[in-house]
Order: sequence, then structure tokens, then C-alpha cells
Amino acid sequence: MSAPKKILIVGGGFTGLTAALRLSADKNYSVTLVESSDQLGGLAAGFPLGSTSLEKTYHHLFLTDTSILDLVKELGLLEKLIWCDSSVGIFRDGKIHAFKTPLDLLKFSPCSFIGRLRTGFAALYLKHQKNWRGFTRVTALDWMTRACGASAMASIWTPLLKGKFDRHFDKVSMAWFWARIHTRANSRSGGDGEKLGYFRGGFNVVTTALEEKIRAQGVTILTRATVEKISAERTAVINGETISFDFCVFTGPSPAFAKLLPINDSLNDYAAKLRSIEYLGAACLVFTSDQSLGDFYWVNVNEPDAPFLVFIQHTHLVSKENYGGKNVYYIGAYLAPDGKTYALPDDELAQVWFAYLKKMFPAFDAAHICERHIFRFRAAQHIVDTAYEEKIPDYQTPLPGVFLANFSQIFPEDRGTNFAVREGEKIAALLQSAG
Ligand SMILES: Cc1cc2nc3c(=O)[nH]c(=O)nc-3n(C[C@H](O)[C@H](O)[C@H](O)COP(=O)(O)OP(=O)(O)OC[C@H]3O[C@@H](n4cnc5c(N)ncnc54)[C@H](O)[C@@H]3O)c2cc1C
Repeated sequence: MSAPKKILIVGGGFTGLTAALRLSADKNYSVTLVESSDQLGGLAAGFPLGSTSLEKTYHHLFLTDTSILDLVKELGLLEKLIWCDSSVGIFRDGKIHAFKTPLDLLKFSPCSFIGRLRTGFAALYLKHQKNWRGFTRVTALDWMTRACGASAMASIWTPLLKGKFDRHFDKVSMAWFWARIHTRANSRSGGDGEKLGYFRGGFNVVTTALEEKIRAQGVTILTRATVEKISAERTAVINGETISFDFCVFTGPSPAFAKLLPINDSLNDYAAKLRSIEYLGAACLVFTSDQSLGDFYWVNVNEPDAPFLVFIQHTHLVSKENYGGKNVYYIGAYLAPDGKTYALPDDELAQVWFAYLKKMFPAFDAAHICERHIFRFRAAQHIVDTAYEEKIPDYQTPLPGVFLANFSQIFPEDRGTNFAVREGEKIAALLQSAG
């Protein structure tokens, strides 16, 4: 029997962990997974909060997330998964308006009545429209303006696009927008409204189960291990040390992959294509408090002067008994990773954001805060513009034996742990078919 082939998986997020799970189940492979940070989980990683774990950035599942739901079942974690009632509001014109049901939309006073009706028809159309191909080259801004009108754009949709994509908001493809509306509209169970999934113990229970299973299947896991170079001779430099592999799967951001490649003329065009995919960073402030602020799980902050996109009361989704009786909150924004706000020291960022929170909730009192944490990720969301389909890199790269599987290949859906699992499974199958 020939020696098992050496697989190097770069990245310990859900894509890398799932690929490791599938490949290490095959005796033909010996798998090493390397992760540059000190923990596994990637963008869905958690931190200890009281006696449990909470995601550094807000996370939940939709009923339509079938790839991760199948994996959760396979890992025996279904009993940890709870389905909770979601509640959504929009902060606009100085108050929070409920924004969950068709009736809420009809009552949404910041938008003209005709705008509300047009928005309702547009949402219904997008929910039932299955063919998104015609949307790829149209911007969400243009399509939605034609469908819903100026008043709905100003009060509902443009602030959301700006919050998610910053200065790129007017380039975003309608195909991406279609997928967002389509998924959310279909994540409803009968007449019960939207249900969102969460794990007792946080998403960390999935990360931990994956880690335990892949270790048991013989995977070597190295954290604080950064891949610095990948060569055409099937070698990689990890923390200054060269190792050889038969196959490598890189799961980090596309421009970061371009930086690892050898510099030569034959790779110039490929590297330029990878670099053409732009990313925004994300900053999330998490705090716990004795104070309960509002009645909603999720509040989109749609005022033009708002310094953040979303305010989330996590303990309106999941009981605060899981967090020692404290209310748990997130404030989140997508930011240019080289911009001023992203670089603000934690205390200054908290000061700016808490000042705005006080505008939203005059009773908010920072003296009630028990814990505060700020987390930043430099590559949190890629810009899905109208030329995006041509930018999507192949799984197979020009380097022999080297594959790429990351969330920039997911289209038109928004990235998410569900699609990370799907991509991890896809890349493992592709690699197995290659040898
Ligand atoms: C604010 C926010 C909210 C979100 N909310 C949700 C949600 O509600 N539900 C949901 O399902 N998803 C959500 N997501 C998305 C979800 O977290 C991601 O889609 C998913 O975790 C991506 O997994 P991944 O493995 O593809 O990538 P990542 O998680 O980015 O993992 C890639 C890993 O590769 C490592 N790496 C990169 N380069 C190197 C290198 N050179 N050497 C070694 N390691 C390297 C990185 O450190 C990272 O850990 C959210 C994301 C954000 C930012």
C-alpha cells in the first residue's frame, strides 16, 4: 500500500474544518490543518463569556441552512440547536419601528404609503422569483429604486446597502440582494414568522465537535501557524519553516492568497484577479449589562448619521439565563480596514458608539455595563459588484496540487457558516477526485 498523500489545509474556519473532516476520513490522506490565530472557528470563533462561549461577531442560522444542519445532525449536536423567534426593528426618524411582518411594513411611517406598498410587492416578487441570473449585472440600488421608489430607498434600503458595503453601496449586484431577501423570506416556518437557529453553548460547540472529530481521525492541528509562502513545487513556508505537501487547500481571503504566491509572469494575471476582489473589515462591540434596551433582537440603524449598522440584543433571541442573568448586546459595523474608524483605539470607538446608543435609548447608562469587548476582522465581507461573477476564482489554482476554497466563491448567496460547510465538502470531493 502506498503512503498516504500529505494534505495541508490553511485556515481553521468552518471551510477548513469541514474539508479536514471529510479528507481525514479517507485513509489515503494524512491531513495537517494550520491556523494563524490562536483558536479555531475563523469569523465564527467565540470567546468565553461567563460559563459559556459567545461569538465575537453575531451569528445565527436560518431554516434554509441545510448543509450545516446536516453536519450538526451528523455530529450529534441537534439537541444543542434551538430555534428561536426573531424580532426585527428599524431605527429611523428617532425611533425604533417594528419591521418583521407585512403589517409592520404597512405601518412603517418613515416611508411614504405608496413606498410601503411597492416594497411589499417587491419583497413578494423576490421571495417567489427563483431565477436570479437576470439580476447579476444590475445594481441593487437601481433595481430596488425602480421597484420601491425614492422614499423606500431613503428610509429602508439605501442605509442597509451603505451599512453593509460602505462606499461600494451603489455597485452591489441585485443578485446578491435577491439571495438575501429570498433566503430570509423562506426561513419562516408556516405562519410562525421567522425562526433563527442558535446553539446552547454558542457556535463553539460545532467548532469543538469538529476539532475533536478531526483530531480523532488523525489530523494534526497547528494554531498560531501562518502560511507565508506557497510554491509551485508543492512546498509551503509556515512560520519560517518549509514543509512539503501533495495537496494544499487555502481557505483565507483571496487577496491574502495572492500574496503567498511566487512572483512570476505566468501568475501575474491570476494574482491580479485575486486582488480585484475587495473586502471590508468588521468591528463588533459586545457588552453585557443589567439594563434591558428595547424589545427587538435585531435593530437596523437606518439614520444617515449612524456610526454603526446594527444593534443586537442577543438575549432577546436566547434566554439571558445562559449568561448569568445579564443582557448581552452587539453593536456592529462593516468598515474599510485601512480607514480611520477601523483603527480607532477601543475606548474611543466605544465612546462614539455608546454616545449614539444613548440617542437610540435615552435611558442607556454605561454605568450598568458589566463586560465590554471589541473584536475586529480585516476581511469580513467581500464586495459583490455587478462584474463579480467574472472575478470568482476557480477552486483549482495555477499551482500544481494547490486549491482555493473561500467565501469569495459563494455567489449569489451571502457568505455564512452554512456555505462554508458546503464549500469545505465540495473542495474535499474535488481533491479526492484529483487524486
Ligand atoms: C459580522 C459578521 C456576522 C456574521 N453573521 C453570520 C451569521 O449570522 N450566520 C452565519 O452562518 N454566518 C455569519 N457570518 C459569516 C460566517 O462567519 C463566515 O461565512 C464563515 O465563518 C466563513 O468561514 P471560512 O472558513 O470560509 O472563513 P474564515 O472564517 O474567514 O476562516 C479562514 C481562516 O483562515 C485563516 N488564515 C487566513 N490566512 C491564513 C494563513 N496565511 N495561514 C494560516 N491561517 C490563515 C484565518 O485566520 C481564518 O481563521 C458572519 C460574519 C461576520 C463578519
